[in-house]
Order: sequence, then structure tokens, then C-alpha cells
Amino acid sequence: MSINSKQAIRCPECGQMADVTVWNSITVKDSPDLKRDLLTGKVNIFHCSSCSHTALMPNPMLYHDEEKKLMISFSPTNDPVLKQKLFDNIKQTSKDSGELKKLSGYNLRFVADYNELLEKILIFDNGFNDKTIEVIKLMILSQDIDKSDQRVCRFGKMENGTIEFMIHDFIENQIYTSSVPVETYNTVEKSLIESGMKLYSFDWEAVDGAYATKLLNGFNN
Ligand SMILES: [Zn+2]
Repeated sequence: MSINSKQAIRCPECGQMADVTVWNSITVKDSPDLKRDLLTGKVNIFHCSSCSHTALMPNPMLYHDEEKKLMISFSPTNDPVLKQKLFDNIKQTSKDSGELKKLSGYNLRFVADYNELLEKILIFDNGFNDKTIEVIKLMILSQDIDKSDQRVCRFGKMENGTIEFMIHDFIENQIYTSSVPVETYNTVEKSLIESGMKLYSFDWEAVDGAYATKLLNGFNN
């Protein structure tokens, strides 16, 4: 069941009051339209009709796709210390409540960034797993290792047997694309599975660049 609440927000730019619908939980099966709005960046975004100021609402949200056995816990923050705290917290709460046991075979993800949330949904919607995708993103960024710190690579789309990645360079202020054949994805995934990687979760996981680095160093869930 998708759950929302209404909040009256004062625009931080112009002071105009606006009512915002804040979604705490989105269940794909019940709300396909809501999912579409989420993917176009319309969910939990404050938009001022008076001055056009937009901002992400600070509220956490749970995304649940029963069919794909995917659950993403989104807690918006830019603070790495707070992010770790929220991540530890959800792991503890799920364990204590017994919820984890009911989610066997699921992919459970924790994200703190809105774009990362949308990226994960797209990855699973296209039939891929984000663990393999994160390893491929590392491979792409390592092609220009001197610039890897100033770049963010994201899954773009899947077309004609090719996966397209978008690379945003914050210093050059440029967007590059990089295409990877699906066969490469399959080869990388096969090798990761042989090393012990599982395409499902035993607990909530933060699958990002750091996670992919650990995978390449022999870590597995
Ligand atoms: Zn305003």
C-alpha cells in the first residue's frame, strides 16, 4: 500500500505557503502512476507555484516492487556520518522486528541520494542487478583514472543489446556517454557469482562504488 501525508510548507525563497503531498511508502503494484511520477522526478519534490523554487523534501521513503522482489529504503541526506547512522538503524530495526525473515530472496537497498534511488529502479526495471552494474561503472571510471574523483557515472538506458552509461564530469561540466555490450555485463556477472556474490540480500545493503570495490577485492554478501 502506498502511503502519503499532506504537509504545509513555506517556500524558503519567497515565503509563499504551499501544500505538498509527501509519500512515505510507494508500492508499485498499487500505484503505477506514482512510480511514473517518481521516475520523472516529481515525487517528494517541493515546487513553489509563486517563484518556481524546487527542493527535495527531507522525508524518508520506502519503495517496494513485490514482483521484482525489490525494496529500496531512501533516506535523503548529504552527510556521510548521518547516512551511516540511518543505514545502521534500518538494519537493526528490520532485524528486531523480524521483518528481514519475511523478505527472503529480496534485494534490499539503502540509498541517501534521489538520483541513486531513480537509477536503482531503472537498473532493476531493465532486468539487471546493481551489484554488477556498480562494478562495470568502476571499470568505466577507471579508464580515465586521474579524473575518476570528479566524475559520477550512472546507468542511462538499455538499447539494442547495449547498456548506455552517463558520465557527469563536475570540473569540466560535461556529460559523456559510455556504451557497454550486454555480453560484457553477463561475463562480469558470471565471474562475480563464481566469486560468491549473491543476486539477493541477507540484509539491507548500500550498493555503491565502495561496495563494488569491496566485491572486486573478494568480498561477497
Ligand atoms: Zn517561492
